[in-house]
Amino acid sequence: MADSEMKRGLAQVMYRFGPESLFDYGRRGLSMKVSRWETDKIDSLDANYVAEQIATHASSFRNDDEDPWVDLTVDDVDFRRPNRVVGSLYPLTMYCQNRSCHRVVSKKEPSHFVYTNGECPECGGELRQLAFVLVHDCGNMMSINPQPCSNPDHGYDHIYLNKQNINDPLSWYFYCGECGDFCGNMSKRCTKCNKERVYFRPIASNSVYYSQGDVLVNLPIDQRYSGEIEYGESWARILMAAHLGDLDDVVEEEGKTYEELGRMTTDERDAKRREKQIEELKEKVGAEQVEKMIESGVDLGDVFDVAEDTIKGSTREEVVEENRERVEVPSQRGGDSDVDQAYSTLSHELFTYLRSTQGYEGNLDATDGMERQPTPLSLDGLLEQDDFLESNPEAEVYPEKLQKVNIASAWVVDNLPLLNYTFGFTRDRPERSRTDLQPFPHPRGEDSTPVYVDQTPSEAIVLQVDRSAIIEWLDEKGTMRGVERPDTDDESDLKEWFLENVDTNELRDHYSPIEDDLTREVYTLLHSMSHALMRTASGQCGLDSNSISEYVMPSIPAIFLYASSTEHFSLGGMHTLFKTRIHPWVDETIADVQQCVYDPVCEHEDGACHACLHMSEVACEGANGNLDRRYLVGGDRGRIPAFWESEYV
Ligand SMILES: [Zn+2]
Ligand SMILES: [Zn+2]
Ligand SMILES: [Zn+2]
Ligand SMILES: [Zn+2]
Repeated sequence: MADSEMKRGLAQVMYRFGPESLFDYGRRGLSMKVSRWETDKIDSLDANYVAEQIATHASSFRNDDEDPWVDLTVDDVDFRRPNRVVGSLYPLTMYCQNRSCHRVVSKKEPSHFVYTNGECPECGGELRQLAFVLVHDCGNMMSINPQPCSNPDHGYDHIYLNKQNINDPLSWYFYCGECGDFCGNMSKRCTKCNKERVYFRPIASNSVYYSQGDVLVNLPIDQRYSGEIEYGESWARILMAAHLGDLDDVVEEEGKTYEELGRMTTDERDAKRREKQIEELKEKVGAEQVEKMIESGVDLGDVFDVAEDTIKGSTREEVVEENRERVEVPSQRGGDSDVDQAYSTLSHELFTYLRSTQGYEGNLDATDGMERQPTPLSLDGLLEQDDFLESNPEAEVYPEKLQKVNIASAWVVDNLPLLNYTFGFTRDRPERSRTDLQPFPHPRGEDSTPVYVDQTPSEAIVLQVDRSAIIEWLDEKGTMRGVERPDTDDESDLKEWFLENVDTNELRDHYSPIEDDLTREVYTLLHSMSHALMRTASGQCGLDSNSISEYVMPSIPAIFLYASSTEHFSLGGMHTLFKTRIHPWVDETIADVQQCVYDPVCEHEDGACHACLHMSEVACEGANGNLDRRYLVGGDRGRIPAFWESEYV
């Protein structure tokens, strides 16, 4: 418990006390700058995916075409977990509190203040920090210092602060006490980009520092193999094959994990075979004889047949080739969309879904560093527990209830690994397009871009949406025209259809419209479902509504609702909801979504507003876009069929 408390604390530290941020050192009334973090290197995360997310984020800032953000890949990034924040005094200008004095002491290094003992060299009064800094949208932060007196004999020796109009810091200025010379005011030209004059900000102002980062579900990849997995298409196809059930035998019979499959090449397998075969041959005809044959370059092809089956095993090339013949993802079919991006998103979705609903398929005891694997409990599994049904008889109706909202299977998942990450900061204004994204300085002075991460266990409810119900609904809505219908009685065929028709690349940037009709319809349907369920979930599980986040996976299709809060984290809420509150949850959700206080306006315009389907920005993955209540309950004078049959209410 103590450990997880510490970790939750860390998530907040990452957000508020990032390198180059300012904070109050309360007891002494001093302000400090976070000069660096002490960190440990982190390996066990899905680094490729996180790097890609960072590149996507970075592309919305003004300096997206500059180093290190342009063409950022996983090789440019160094993932680290902070364990200690190191700060130093900032800003570095102090002045005497004595109103009749206001003598100014400004230093270049925090350590230079040691000799002042916090006292005014003039009158012995108390020195206090000038509580302003200068920040610019280029990311620069400057201390407000006086300039020396133009008389070289005076220099910095007699500088005072004029605060005549105490409430208007804009009028304050430094002057030389000897000759009255002006020695600077509360602004100066940016020393970094040299573009603009920058004006003071109170050090406690929000605009001094904006942390840039995000939270996502990120499962660890088995570190024993991660270096050898061929990411991109190959990894995506192995996971697609697993999702479609094509690897069930392989995983069971060969006892292999997806990572192991992702690593084993045909060459490696053949080399092992050959080795084994040579050994067998040696036993049969004698070692000397075999060595001679090898040396003389005799083709051993025929004799190898003897041991053809001694080393079995599927290799990644075989799995990939088979899957390539079976599945064609939308971005393969041309256009200018980026097929690598699609494979990466698919890998992340499938890997998260497979491990979260099936658990780790290998042997956990044989591994170390894998203790953060999610542990799922399916609704079917729960209902098979006799003592559970005895104490919760109402749970018998759960599957039926969920079927009303077209949820085919459900799981509650423990140890869902959440990843908080921060990759930089901005200053001066919140708009991404008007600021330069600053990378953090590397804690060890290395060349790569540090990204700070914190992994926390969370819990989730995973809902797999009825695939054939979606097909029927799309058909009724008229979206299936020109698209081949899958066999709705064949689950594997249905899964394939979603992989082949939902273009995940269209969902990469949640601020631009989804062009592909089918993808938009499927995503809007799932996203609306997710919000309707999220809005009523908090009341049922005791979590604050901002503490539940969503992860919509349209190519599965499935919805993850997970506990995301770092502040009021109460583990167990999702379990309570799943085990004891599914019936009121579904009933309330169906009833709730029927109307909005802003109907008929809401109903006739977008079908979603803050009163009915919107969630706070931290809870929604898509900035409250692509939401429509009518997809669930029907509307637009019969043009939109209801996905949720209202007759059930
Ligand atoms: Zn003084
Ligand atoms: Zn600047
Ligand atoms: Zn509304
Ligand atoms: Zn959302």
